[in-house]
Amino acid sequence: MQKIASFTTTVPVEVILASGYRPLDLNNIFVSSENPLSLVEKAEFSGFAGSSCAWIKGLYSVLASPAFNKDFEVFIAVTEGDCSNAKVLEQIVAMETGIRTFIFNFPYQRDITKMRSEIERFAAFMGTDYKTCAKVWEDLKNLRKKLKIIDETSYLYPGSVTGEENHLFLVSSSDFCGDPVEYEQKADDFIRELEHRKQFADHSRKKIGYLGVPPIVPIHSFLEARSATVVYNEIQREFAMLDEYPTIEEQYINYTYPYSAAFRFEKAVREIKKRDLDGIIHYVQSFCHRQLEDIILRQILKNNGLDIPLLTLEFDKPANKIDARVATRIEAFLETI
Ligand code: SF4
Repeated sequence: MQKIASFTTTVPVEVILASGYRPLDLNNIFVSSENPLSLVEKAEFSGFAGSSCAWIKGLYSVLASPAFNKDFEVFIAVTEGDCSNAKVLEQIVAMETGIRTFIFNFPYQRDITKMRSEIERFAAFMGTDYKTCAKVWEDLKNLRKKLKIIDETSYLYPGSVTGEENHLFLVSSSDFCGDPVEYEQKADDFIRELEHRKQFADHSRKKIGYLGVPPIVPIHSFLEARSATVVYNEIQREFAMLDEYPTIEEQYINYTYPYSAAFRFEKAVREIKKRDLDGIIHYVQSFCHRQLEDIILRQILKNNGLDIPLLTLEFDKPANKIDARVATRIEAFLETI
C-alpha cells in the first residue's frame, strides 16, 4: 500500500509525488463521500462550533475517522495563504492522531526566493529534494496542457463540456485523484469524446462564470438543467495550474488563490473578458473570511468596465440539491441575462 500524504488545500503536489507518496486532497474526499453532512455533524459532536466553516469540519472528520485515515502518514496544513482555521486543525490532528503534520506557507509577498525555500523545506520534510520535484513538475506539463484543452473547449464550444465535468477535471487536479498517469489517461479519453461532442455546441446557452471556493452543493448541474453552462471555474482553474511558467516556484507565486483578492480578481477579469460571459455567480461559504472579498470583486469588475450581472450566493452545509429559496434566486438571475 502506497503511503498517503493528505492536505487541506492545494500545495506543490510535485513534492508529494517526488517523495513517492500518494497525494490526497481532503476536500475531494469530504465532498464526494457518501454522506458529507454526517461528517460535518460528527465534527460538531467533537466540539466544533455550529458557526464554523463546514469545510473545516468535514476535513477534520475525514482525518479523524478510521474509515478514511488508516493509510494517512502525513497531513499538510496550509496556513499562510489559506485559512486560519487550518492552523488550529493542524494542532488538533497532531494531538489526536498519530499522523505526522507539516505546515506549508505560501509567502504572502509572492516572493520568488521565499517560495523556492518553502518548496525546499517541504521537500526536505517529505524526504526528497528540489531537483527531483522540478523533474516531476516537467513531467506534469503534458497533463496540464490536456486539462487546458478541456477548459478551453468549455467556452469555445458551449455545452460540449458541462460545467460540472470541467469543474471536476480541474478541482481534482490538486491531487490527480492520487495517480497522475491514470488521470492523464482519463483526460485523453475525455478529449477524444469532445471531438465528437463539439459538433453539438449550442451557442444559445448562457455562459456563466463561477468565482469563489468550490461549491458544497450541486450548483453546476442546477445551472446546466436551465440552459446555462459554467464555462469559467475560477478557483478550480487555479488548482489545475494551467498557465505556463519557467520554474516551479514561479508557477506557485502566480497561483492566485493564496494571495490578495485584488491579484486574484485582476486575473479573473482577463478570463471573464476572454470567455465573453453572460453572468457571474460568486460563491461564498458561510463563516469564511473570503465572504468579504465580494466587495473587492464588485469594485474590480466596475473598474474594468465589466457590467455583467453578478449574483452572490452563500451556502453553509453540504446538500445534494439546491434549496427552494436559493433555486428561485438563481432562476430569477438567469431570467435577467
Ligand atoms: S471555505 Fe474559507 S473558512 Fe472554510 S476552509 Fe476554506 S478558506 Fe477556510
